[in-house]
Amino acid sequence: GRERHYQGRVAALSDGSVSFAFQDVSDVEHAADMRRDFVANVSHELRTPLTALMGFVETLRGAAKDDPAARERFLGIMEREALRMNRLVGELLSLSRVEAEERVRPTAMIEPRTLVVSVMNTLRPMAEAAGVTLESDFAPSVPKIRADFDQMTQVLHNLIENGVKYGGSGGRIRVRLQFLQHDAQLRGPAVSIAVRDFGEGIPAIHLPRLTERFYRVDNHRSREKGGTGLGLAIVKHILNRHRGRLKVESREGEGSSFEIILPAAEE
Ligand code: ADP
Repeated sequence: GRERHYQGRVAALSDGSVSFAFQDVSDVEHAADMRRDFVANVSHELRTPLTALMGFVETLRGAAKDDPAARERFLGIMEREALRMNRLVGELLSLSRVEAEERVRPTAMIEPRTLVVSVMNTLRPMAEAAGVTLESDFAPSVPKIRADFDQMTQVLHNLIENGVKYGGSGGRIRVRLQFLQHDAQLRGPAVSIAVRDFGEGIPAIHLPRLTERFYRVDNHRSREKGGTGLGLAIVKHILNRHRGRLKVESREGEGSSFEIILPAAEE
């Protein structure tokens, strides 16, 4: 574990005695450290594409000025970098919105099947363009959940998109919808939505850290695919708000499964 830090406070009481109180400030300090790390990470993540953009502006003014082919190529790269920054800023905003709402319980009654089908239909063209088939495996009857439709859409969207981006080499992704009579951790009936890919999988040492902000198994690969490293952090926050959980299983060479488990709504 981390070192704990204590702060002492001396107070003179009205009866003339003196009290001395110890307070454990480790968690407060830890939160401050995390915030500093986060700001440093964000700055770095924003500066990387910005530096590239500034470099290409220079090149376009100079060496590539009279070379239309080179100019086109550089403009393409600049556009990609700008899109990446745009996505990053969008995900940061979405993360802060989710954080702000984390204590507000979602109330809408959602049919899990409707949600899953809607996200799969949205992503099917993108998956097929990458040579990946989306398969469904739905239990015939699944209870409703109390959820924020847009946020749960974002969760599923991130998981399926990751499946295509990182596990797409398997050629297919299976989305399974199930009713769990009793989930031990949630202590009650639950709904499970699992996104399974058949790609190369994730080495076990990375699994516990996947939902950390900006954590990537392979930095270069993630950037290449336009990843920001925030997708699973957003997933985790949204699931916390829904009192649900994420279960990740993966085997190298066989693929990964990202399963979300949410309490079934009481009728
Ligand atoms: P990113 O924007 O980089 O995709 P995420 O938070 O969504 O960020 O995912 C974090 C990292 O987890 C990814 O960079 C990738 O290394 C790994 N990852 C996520 N999903 C999968 C998957 N289905 N198969 C293999 N690796 C994955």
